[in-house]
Amino acid sequence: MRKNIVAGNWKMNNDLSETEDLLAQLKQHLEETPDAKVIVAPSFTNLYHVFQSLADTPIEVAAQNMHQSENGAFTGEVSGKMLSSVGVKHVILGHSERRAIFNETDALLAEKVDAALKNDLQVIFCCGEELEERKNDNHFEVVKKQLSEGLFHISKENWKDVVIAYEPVWAIGTGETASPEQAQEMHAFIRKTISEKFGSEIAAEISILYGGSVKPANAKEIFAKEDVDGGLIGGASLKAEDFLAIVHSF
Ligand code: PEP
Repeated sequence: MRKNIVAGNWKMNNDLSETEDLLAQLKQHLEETPDAKVIVAPSFTNLYHVFQSLADTPIEVAAQNMHQSENGAFTGEVSGKMLSSVGVKHVILGHSERRAIFNETDALLAEKVDAALKNDLQVIFCCGEELEERKNDNHFEVVKKQLSEGLFHISKENWKDVVIAYEPVWAIGTGETASPEQAQEMHAFIRKTISEKFGSEIAAEISILYGGSVKPANAKEIFAKEDVDGGLIGGASLKAEDFLAIVHSF
């Protein structure tokens, strides 16, 4: 069901004691029933600890990545089955850093999506164009291709376990945010693209998050747009005060 969601992607930040500090602040200041579902994505090493620490709160836990296989000789990798077994509910797939730095292709992401769904993980599927692609007016095509090749093979029944995060690469960690109008335009396009392939009911129900330099100062304006259902937050999710201000801007 379409929900407001604010998810914090902690990336490769926070060791155990820093994680504990951040959790303590989040728990102390989060409203009992926030108007948005709140998700945090710590590093693999801290997932179980975070899950246990948040057990008596409405905050849910996501992983930042996973391998597409169930188990086997894949040194250094973590499977969906392992994530589920430690209380993880969601997994971020297709983040632009995974695509660009670790060469994750749409075809590989399609496999990861299947493995996540098979292990009862909800997928937060990231898509978004590079600056050059936007300048060349290719951004709609790029996002459509990412969705078509990485996600659109799933069945209608699986859409209840999918959230989309539109993250223009030029806005991630740069301090430059897409304008609320740019975000709305792309989110409406994504919803229309889903509607054309899977029907208007599924399209109306899917949560589409915006990501890219969201801060307390701009969250309200972006989240107010009709097709923006929340945010995937990087830098600002590392400071409890900022993250909670974003959560509370609905
Ligand atoms: C992200 O990495 O998903 C992200 C949106 O980062 P930031 O908020 O720092 O731009």
